[in-house]
Amino acid sequence: MQSVEVNLDKLMQKLGSVGKPQEDKQGPKKKKKNHGEKVSSPPGGSIKGGAAEQSVKGSSELRKKIKQKKNFKPDGGKSEQQSQNVSPTVNEVSSLTRLQKGMKESLDGARFRWINELLYKSDSSEAVRMMKEDPAVFHDYHSGFRHQVQSWPSNPVSHYISQLSSYPQNTIIADLGCGDATLARGLLPKKLRILSFDLISDGAYIVAADICSHVPLPGSEPSSSQMSEGEAQVVDVVVCALSLMGTNWPVCIREAWRVLKPGGELKIAEVASRFTDVDEFVSLINSIGFKMKAKNDHNSHFTLFDFKKVARTSRTDKEWTKVMSNGGVLKPCEYKRR
Ligand code: SAH
Repeated sequence: MQSVEVNLDKLMQKLGSVGKPQEDKQGPKKKKKNHGEKVSSPPGGSIKGGAAEQSVKGSSELRKKIKQKKNFKPDGGKSEQQSQNVSPTVNEVSSLTRLQKGMKESLDGARFRWINELLYKSDSSEAVRMMKEDPAVFHDYHSGFRHQVQSWPSNPVSHYISQLSSYPQNTIIADLGCGDATLARGLLPKKLRILSFDLISDGAYIVAADICSHVPLPGSEPSSSQMSEGEAQVVDVVVCALSLMGTNWPVCIREAWRVLKPGGELKIAEVASRFTDVDEFVSLINSIGFKMKAKNDHNSHFTLFDFKKVARTSRTDKEWTKVMSNGGVLKPCEYKRR
């Protein structure tokens, strides 16, 4: 145990000293303590219990915990701008011993699972607030996500890249919850037009938006009891690949409907273990104004759905609140400890 602590100290010194101003004297002391806590009490192990554990109280507690996790960052004292790139360089990582590398992976993995838990168990407004406060959270989440993707037998985004490649040129696709904008990058040579949205912009591909609140694209909802598909939309296809995360995710589907052209396509890929009842999930999506066209559950990890937008009438706020309260048909996604 002692040698583990010594190694952990060395690891943190190596990672923490990179580009770090000398005057940050409080840093190492604090970090050492927190790192110790994290190792002795791995947070990832406690993400259990599914939808029953979702609560407002839970989400604010989670936020507090995530804030504490900031102290675990190898570059703790950096400025906000610097902290967007918290990963040590290849040279720094390659100079670590095997044990140190293992420990760094455990720390990164634990932080990823904490952020993941917060994203799944709170309203998206909480996620927005957290990412604004500390953009490093977004970076750290995506590093962890990329790591997870490597262990999957297939990735829904790769499937969508090959499927959408055969769509007509100039098809307009909105990727809601685009992550690193892998879809947009993959379809770039195909002359399709991809509009990528996620919580934080990368200054190039990604437009910052809370997709569970408002997608900044044109389109209206019906304003009367007459069947309609709204007007002014420009989007042919909406993709939601593993992005229905906040407890208010049904709002994202409502937004997908609003921005899709009449008859437009909605493609959803979700982790198979999240479904409490696939039929209930499908009825919820249909009730927002869609018709399921295809379901692919051949893959053990993911289920993929194709929906088509159909006409509907307007709804009162009360009716919407009822529809939107059914988000529990998707459980939070739990990642195992690496
Ligand atoms: N679709 C990508 C990324 C999946 S990870 C892919 O398959 O590779 C899920 C993504 O959804 C994350 O990038 C997360 O930031 C984003 N996300 C979750 N909730 C969101 C919200 N309310 N608004 C915008 N993006 C959201």
